Amino acid sequence: MAANVIVIGAGVYGAAVAASLARRGARVVVVEAGLPAHGTSGATFSWTNASAKPAGPYRDLNVAGLAAHRRLAAEAAGATRAGWYHESGNLQWAEAGDDEARQKLRAKVTGLLDDGYQARWLSRSEAADIEPGIDPAGLPADEIAFFPREGWVAPERLISYLLSVAAAHGAELLTGDGVVALETSAGQVSAVRMASGRALAAAALVNCAGPRAGVIAELVGLDLPMRNTCGLLVRVSAAALPVSRVVHAPRVHLRPDGAAGLLMHSPALDEAVRTSDTGPVVADDTAVGRLLEAGRALCPAARDAAVDGIRIGERPIPGDGLPVLGRAADLPNFHFAVSHSGVTLCLHAGGLVADEVLGLDRDEALAPFRFERFRAAPGPAAGAIPS
Ligand SMILES: Cc1cc2nc3c(=O)[nH]c(=O)nc-3n(C[C@H](O)[C@H](O)[C@H](O)COP(=O)(O)OP(=O)(O)OC[C@H]3O[C@@H](n4cnc5c(N)ncnc54)[C@H](O)[C@@H]3O)c2cc1C
Repeated sequence: MAANVIVIGAGVYGAAVAASLARRGARVVVVEAGLPAHGTSGATFSWTNASAKPAGPYRDLNVAGLAAHRRLAAEAAGATRAGWYHESGNLQWAEAGDDEARQKLRAKVTGLLDDGYQARWLSRSEAADIEPGIDPAGLPADEIAFFPREGWVAPERLISYLLSVAAAHGAELLTGDGVVALETSAGQVSAVRMASGRALAAAALVNCAGPRAGVIAELVGLDLPMRNTCGLLVRVSAAALPVSRVVHAPRVHLRPDGAAGLLMHSPALDEAVRTSDTGPVVADDTAVGRLLEAGRALCPAARDAAVDGIRIGERPIPGDGLPVLGRAADLPNFHFAVSHSGVTLCLHAGGLVADEVLGLDRDEALAPFRFERFRAAPGPAAGAIPS
């Protein structure tokens, strides 16, 4: 039985890691309990950004993530499966009368500009010009922040492209069979056991199991604390494209989704989602209606648009909110690729993780994101998790 690099999970991370490895000659098998893109990556707002992240290594990682998206999109332009990357820009403003939120946004934009990040202020008429899909009555007179290099990704298309690249370089994809056990020998992972009973020899393993990453880590006795949260998204289908860029209004977040779709999200309504024995459910019947109401108030084209999808996603959030990336010190062929904001990060962070699988040390880049930080004295609990 030949040993391969086993990548667990076919979401954005698994697909990115597999493509990066296979391109460079590694023998890769991606094992997926369900189907590609049917995990969190199929139920995400997928806004590509670094503006929501605090200054420091985490923001830098996200900035590099944006650059990696640009590079891949340019490389794939014209390919059949291309068309996942939309660098449309992002508009954001504070609630009228909420001075604290206004002040916070001002400070954020100032900090980002100081950091060399592209941002500018728009007036109501300037914002309405670039985003005619928004009702100008819903915009403040001024102080609308615009982040021109942000945008959104169609994750299913991205995953499909990355898996096709991996397959073209010999990678195998096994679906509908989950990993239930890991075998170790001489301080290394040696094999994975699947629910079907099948066993696969492992030269190395990459844990890209998203919200279930802690379960995979536990199979080899590694305690990865996770504090996942759920999010509610509603998609409507309009007659024509309702908005053409990402919009972060105080009560609702909007982005285009496909030819004439509009995806709506509001962090305030995420608590309507509860976990049950059968997975997450919308426990508050009024949440979808309230989300629709907020989206329709802001976007006239959505007023007559029919709901054609309610998506619930589970954010994979490591205990301190930061990504967990790279090799496990105690089990050197076991690697992590786990984070929130995975859509923004997957190409760059996945590439760094793949480097280490291939023996290229990435200590400088990955030091702040190592699993081993959870073994040190617990730090302060992180606050809200930025997208
Ligand atoms: C509501 C919401 C909004 C978000 N907004 C943004 C945003 O604006 N920008 C952004 O960048 N990110 C955002 N995120 C986060 C982002 O979507 C995730 O970080 C990313 O999709 C995680 O990808 P993944 O590949 O790690 O996990 P997943 O997509 O969940 O993939 C993991 C895969 O592993 C498989 N798996 C699990 N266990 C096993 C097993 N035992 N054996 C085999 N396979 C297994 C699963 O079936 C799944 O397909 C959001 C998430 C949510 C829920």
